[in-house]
Amino acid sequence: MFRSLHMKLMLIMTLLIVALMTVVGAFLINSVVNYYIQDFYTQMSEAFGDPDFWADLQTPADGEEDGAASIERILRTYNSALGVNDRSRKYFVLDGADGHFLTGSDPQEPGSEVPLTRNLSMALNGIQGDASDPSAAFMDVAVPVQRGEGRYIVYIRDDRSTVQALNNELITLILEALLFGLIISVLLSFLLSKTLITPIERLTEGAERVADGNFSKKIEVGSRDEIGVLTGTFNDMALQLKTTLEEVENERNKLGTLFLHMTDGVVAFSRDGAVIQSNPAAEQLLGRAVPIGGSEDYDTLFADIAPLQGVLAVEQPGYLDGIRETGGKILELLLTPFNQERLGGVLVVIHDVTAQRKTEDMRREFVANVSHELRTPLTNIRSYAETLTGNAGELPLEMEQKFLGVILNESDRMTHIVQDLLTLSRFDSGRSELKLAPFPFGDAVQDVYNAILMEAQRHGHTVELQRAEAIPEILGDRERVLQVMMNVVSNAIKYTPDGGRIRISAGKRGPWVWMEVEDNGIGIPQEDRGRIFERFYRVDKARSRESGGTGLGLSIAKEIVDRHEGALELVDRPGPGLTVRLALKVEGPRHGRS
Ligand code: ADP
Repeated sequence: MFRSLHMKLMLIMTLLIVALMTVVGAFLINSVVNYYIQDFYTQMSEAFGDPDFWADLQTPADGEEDGAASIERILRTYNSALGVNDRSRKYFVLDGADGHFLTGSDPQEPGSEVPLTRNLSMALNGIQGDASDPSAAFMDVAVPVQRGEGRYIVYIRDDRSTVQALNNELITLILEALLFGLIISVLLSFLLSKTLITPIERLTEGAERVADGNFSKKIEVGSRDEIGVLTGTFNDMALQLKTTLEEVENERNKLGTLFLHMTDGVVAFSRDGAVIQSNPAAEQLLGRAVPIGGSEDYDTLFADIAPLQGVLAVEQPGYLDGIRETGGKILELLLTPFNQERLGGVLVVIHDVTAQRKTEDMRREFVANVSHELRTPLTNIRSYAETLTGNAGELPLEMEQKFLGVILNESDRMTHIVQDLLTLSRFDSGRSELKLAPFPFGDAVQDVYNAILMEAQRHGHTVELQRAEAIPEILGDRERVLQVMMNVVSNAIKYTPDGGRIRISAGKRGPWVWMEVEDNGIGIPQEDRGRIFERFYRVDKARSRESGGTGLGLSIAKEIVDRHEGALELVDRPGPGLTVRLALKVEGPRHGRS
């Protein structure tokens, strides 16, 4: 009930008023009593200090019989000076020897006893008793009077009923004032709470809005007091918060997008191994769904690479790594803990190194191939040269010439290989520019046909040329294109047993021109077809070498065609033999054009 500010305010004001009134009342009542007591003793000392009065009291009339009655008369005369009245203040004339009542303004049985007070005992001992006793319920003054022979005590006693009545009136007044004050305090507290609480309520509403993430509305600053300053500061804070939140959100979106589209897979696990984050790349690389909070956890996914506790114990920036081969892919896994001081967990980054490994393997294989290809002719040259030098002048002439012929052949072969390798290396490093110019594609096919006809006939092959009418000019590097064509046709001659049939056809289709070379030779087994354009790849190594092949011809041809943005492929058809198809764009390569 007293939790609201309004009630608290009212309670404080009420307590304040009550406390104030109580203090004021107490002071007032105390002052009134003190004043009354003070006034009594002042009045008494003035009255008894009056020499006339004193003389009257002490001087008996001639032949006076009853001194007490005379004193009583004198006292009645000085009624007003003594302040004697019917209600509270009385005078008594007492016997000076024993203090018994003789006469007075309050009639009693003569000889009866008057209550003995300190002042009265003093008077009985002959001393004027006028000591004030604030704790007593009365005030009194007892004065011993020697009148002639008689000893009396004039005793004035006030039972304070007047001051009591006054006090009662004062209390009533204070209570009335208190009531009035309370009513005012309730009204004031209402007013105060209105001016104080309304802005606070507005501030509370605004704070609730901000807590709900609604920054659109500013809180009105209604005053320039502390609450006004607080409201202004709150508005500034909300604006700052909004900007910061927007920045954080922006950063989060950026990171989220990066996380979503990065090619490396990332999976984050909590300390107990549950998935707390994963990106699509991770699911794709692992070949399974890795939902947040799903059944997959660290142990089912990566326990084989390293135990969770092991990763958590790694000191940053260190990490553990491992390789996994799955679904034809080679994955490199990097495992590292994050946020070790606090809750944290483990982050696994999955990197697809299939292509990298393949390239490395190919490079290794390539170097091995090159070494091998060069070593064979070198070994031959060396052994024949050794034989020649070892038997100088002893060998028959034909033999020497034959050996020298082999040495020449082998060095030609090496030159051939080195030239091919240089060509490929120029393509690889992008140093080999195509010299693009328009040339008639049909005529180029014809030239190739003319060039190989003799060689084909030497092998007893029949060569057939089918040229469509109107094959347009194309934009390309004529020399290079001829090199490709020659390579394909030479292969057909080489890999077709003597007496075979070779058909060369050419034509145009849409924006493309094409040439097909079909033979009925040994063909290429299905399993080797995919690798035929690889460097040094030969189906039958011995046969290829025999016919002077290096295994680089088709890879160079493929590079040239790729640079022309064309296609060089094996036509999928049943054997025997092989059909190779070359297709080039009439307009030439888009990238090579100036
Ligand atoms: P090579 O110099 O050995 O001929 P290529 O790169 O030109 O090298 O050819 C690669 C391999 O492809 C050859 O070694 C051969 O095994 C195979 N090949 C190429 N053309 C044919 C064909 N028309 N018929 C059968 N096999 C072929």
